[in-house]
Amino acid sequence: MNQEAKGEAKGEAKAEIRNFIRHIIDEDLASGKNGAKVATRFPPEPNGYLHIGHAKSICLNFGIARDYKGTCNLRFDDTNPVKEDIEYVNSIQDDVRWLGFSWSGEIHYASDYFERIYEYAVELIKLGKAYVCSLNADEMRKTRGTLTEAGTNSPFRARSVAENLDLFTRMRAGEFEEGAHVLRAKIDMSSPNVNMRDPVIYRIRKAHHHRTGDQWCIYPMYDYTHCLSDMIEGITHSICTLEFEDHRPLYDWVLATLKTPCHPQQIEFSRLNIDYTVMSKRKLLELVKDKHVSGWDDPRMPTIQGFRRRGFTPASIRDFCERVGVTKKDSCIEYGLLETCVREDLDKNAPRAMAVLRPLRVVIENYPEGQAGEVSEEFDVPNHPQRPELGTRKVPFSRVVYIEQEDFMEVPEKGFFRLAPDKEVRLRSAYFIKCVGVTKDAQGRVSELRCTYDPATKGGSNPPDGRKVKGTLHWVSEAHALKAEVRLYERLFAVPNPGAGDTDFLKQMNPKSLEVLRDARVEPSLAHAALESQFQFERQGYFSVDRVDCKPGQLVFNRTVTLRDSK
Ligand code: ATP
Ligand code: MG
Repeated sequence: MNQEAKGEAKGEAKAEIRNFIRHIIDEDLASGKNGAKVATRFPPEPNGYLHIGHAKSICLNFGIARDYKGTCNLRFDDTNPVKEDIEYVNSIQDDVRWLGFSWSGEIHYASDYFERIYEYAVELIKLGKAYVCSLNADEMRKTRGTLTEAGTNSPFRARSVAENLDLFTRMRAGEFEEGAHVLRAKIDMSSPNVNMRDPVIYRIRKAHHHRTGDQWCIYPMYDYTHCLSDMIEGITHSICTLEFEDHRPLYDWVLATLKTPCHPQQIEFSRLNIDYTVMSKRKLLELVKDKHVSGWDDPRMPTIQGFRRRGFTPASIRDFCERVGVTKKDSCIEYGLLETCVREDLDKNAPRAMAVLRPLRVVIENYPEGQAGEVSEEFDVPNHPQRPELGTRKVPFSRVVYIEQEDFMEVPEKGFFRLAPDKEVRLRSAYFIKCVGVTKDAQGRVSELRCTYDPATKGGSNPPDGRKVKGTLHWVSEAHALKAEVRLYERLFAVPNPGAGDTDFLKQMNPKSLEVLRDARVEPSLAHAALESQFQFERQGYFSVDRVDCKPGQLVFNRTVTLRDSK
């Protein structure tokens, strides 16, 4: 790999991001379409927390606005009062900001346009392009036809403009029960595209809306609302996912029929899918509601809040979204790519620290013993091996230290270069120690090691006699270390494509996705680590201070990712 390609693969020295959507925009700018303006929007429905798929859409829409000096609106598509909630409205704003983007002007809500959208519906009726249909849901389904068979006209299709206006006004006034009538666009029941077979554009819903309260009892449908909202905001490029491709004719029909002053261009791209995870809000909601996870922000969740709590940085998620690219081809991205992105970011930026996750007590017999209080010394340890500008910190050492249980083997297997009876290792930045004795508990498990140290190896340097050791261990001083809870995570699902076919995705959860270690010890410099700050714990991976459960006197760390791929 040449130097440049290497840099690119690592996410450095990024060339300008090109994709087919940017090519379309370039052409539009060159031809003078839209008055040389670029206006995008991110239009979430506030019916759940955002997931990593949404992050792709956010990076795409806000990224285009940033690079073309255009605008990007945040608009809540809040047309379904039953499923929406202010909690979601707030978390979504939080997530967009956390990812590093800011929306243009005020936040927009489709519900702000309800009156105008209603007037457009009246206009459609007057044009003879919409009618009140009184078939029930079942009859409507039966007359809709199939992919291969045309639908049949509703018996109400021929209602007069006057009758339609009267009924629609009374629908709005609340005179009818839910399901009694709907308003349908009058397009073509024999269209090969089922979305064009007189789609419903308004329905009666006697539900309280989180913004408009009880002002409305009819609500516009998504397809009809979306194009009008885009138009009202003067969006130039309405970017959405591929499943809306078949809805584009309807999007265009509404705007063309109403001869609206502007007509945004809908462009579709393929959704982000990642293996070993689920990404539909319905399934994520189920995981939360049925308590399979601790909440929307559980660090195993593919939500933005989950990744954030797990210790992912905004930069690593933006980097990931860039690397997966924007195309029209369906694909499934390996979870490992996300891990690579966060690892590269944290390798560069996270300070190092020592933490022992499963402690084994080591008594250094020839180290001076204290009378009152411990005798100890401090070592200056660099915070980052490649970045001296990040400084050093003091790490205390004393007669009793902890090492990792797995760093000792009473009968070392071949290739095991860590501690074993009569073997010598380096304690990073401290001393060489040699194991001279093993203490066991009643069950015969190793409970403590007796060691000696070599004062000539101070700071972890090789001794003058040229002796070398192969193993370097991390450690903490018993007298100085802080107790901490450490949470280790694995994938939430045990199979690459949970819920594929007819399988129940809940039955495919990984039973070992969370391991909680309550007796870990960390070096004292972490006492005041800021919530959400990240560290590399030597040899153990990257960890983040849990922003929810970490309290004064109660340290909690989440492992973001291991140092290397496990496979
Ligand atoms: P879900 O299907 O997960 O419930 P949604 O499409 O219903 O999501 P919206 O709130 O409507 O969720 O999505 C807001 C925007 O994010 C839309 O423009 C949508 O196309 C986009 N989006 C949603 N999921 C993905 C994904 N997996 N990849 C890329 N973009 C996505
Ligand atoms: Mg949607």
